[in-house]
Amino acid sequence: MAINRPKGTEDHLPALSPKLTLDVSAQAHGWLVEKARRVLERAGAQRIDTPLFEEADLVKRGVGGSTDIVRKEMFTVYYFGDHGGYILRPEGTAAIVRAYLQNGLKQLPAPLKLWTHGPMFRAERQQRGRLRQFHQVDYEVLGSTDALVDAEAIALMVGVVRELGLTGVRVKLGSIGDPEDRERYNTYLRELFTPQLERLSDDSKDRLTRNPMRILDSKSASDQELLAELGVKPMLDFLGEEAGAHFRAVQAYLTEWGVDYDIDPSIVRGLDYYRRTAWELHHEGVGAKSALGGGGRYDGLAQELGSKEPIPGIGWAFGVERLLLALEAEGMALPEIAGPLLYVAALDEVNVPHAARTAMRARAHARAEFAYRAMKPAAAFRDAERRGAHWVALLGTDEVAQGTLSLKNIRTGEQRSLAAADLATFLQEHA
Ligand code: AMP
Repeated sequence: MAINRPKGTEDHLPALSPKLTLDVSAQAHGWLVEKARRVLERAGAQRIDTPLFEEADLVKRGVGGSTDIVRKEMFTVYYFGDHGGYILRPEGTAAIVRAYLQNGLKQLPAPLKLWTHGPMFRAERQQRGRLRQFHQVDYEVLGSTDALVDAEAIALMVGVVRELGLTGVRVKLGSIGDPEDRERYNTYLRELFTPQLERLSDDSKDRLTRNPMRILDSKSASDQELLAELGVKPMLDFLGEEAGAHFRAVQAYLTEWGVDYDIDPSIVRGLDYYRRTAWELHHEGVGAKSALGGGGRYDGLAQELGSKEPIPGIGWAFGVERLLLALEAEGMALPEIAGPLLYVAALDEVNVPHAARTAMRARAHARAEFAYRAMKPAAAFRDAERRGAHWVALLGTDEVAQGTLSLKNIRTGEQRSLAAADLATFLQEHA
């Protein structure tokens, strides 16, 4: 029986594959990451890469023991003689903070801006835009609590969206305050929900003891009904003086820079270590509940991971597949196939090695391919066209003897003869 890929994973396919869509096009993924890289590196972010698997404890402490990610969605890595102490990473932040601490990156000038891209793993139920292996572009800034850093992070996320050409994106901005503010809010929520215990979903009953704020994040329809009925006050009403001033400063910068946002009091980040600024980017094309990305400040994380001193941080992640679905919803076409500039075909078997040599030399200047067997001109043009080539060079006995190439432009039909010695100049001119 044929073996298929695991549920919730996707193959990223080459251009011209049958039934290709943006979200599974390897070229579209590469294009998107390159756009994000340019925006982030222009702002001073440096690339960092961490392993795809980490100590289970990093994920448990970093992401939070009460989150769905840790309780239900972790992929455990086993190998011979090991007891499953490793986890496929579900997100990038905890590992980047670990790498910062472990590699002494604190010595670099602060704030340090880092970015990464790669696969993340969560054993979720597969839906459109919800995969078990998905990809994120991730941006993190370590070493500053300044509201300017928060505003810049949000503006950079919007910058990536603009660079991609997406228009229908909304920024939903909130603040989850400082730990003391959250404690006050959780006390309020406990008092509000305890008399309603029977009406809460099982997950939310559990949340009520572990972390009542999570109830607001519940995916259960009956929980959401109860929330509406009780008229729950938002976290924003519980912000302390400092967190409130920080939140107002972030908004003032965004307004000054012309970055539009909506205050959304319902934003509660699913991860335990977040503080203060929290936000999400949404797009109608991927569904109301599906964020394109989100971010937040996590000043408490480094100490949670064993740092003696606090290292403030803030970061965000985009879901690459979600961005591609949004682009598809806005009607973006697949990126144009970048075919070879030159396709060399020999007309006789004896000249095939010569065609190969010509193409391989041409690669110093441009993308060049060759036919692996002799072809008639019509077959060579057809094959070159299917590969998206621009120019075809035919090599017959005459051409080889005279040191020339017979060139034809597949797209315009233009034909010309070229001295083989002039090929490099020709390619440079047409690249
Ligand atoms: P989070 O790390 O949960 O804040 O997620 C950040 C972004 O990653 C989300 O807004 C989504 O765009 C994307 N994302 C999270 N989980 C998944 C998933 N299971 N499948 C696809 N994208 C996801």
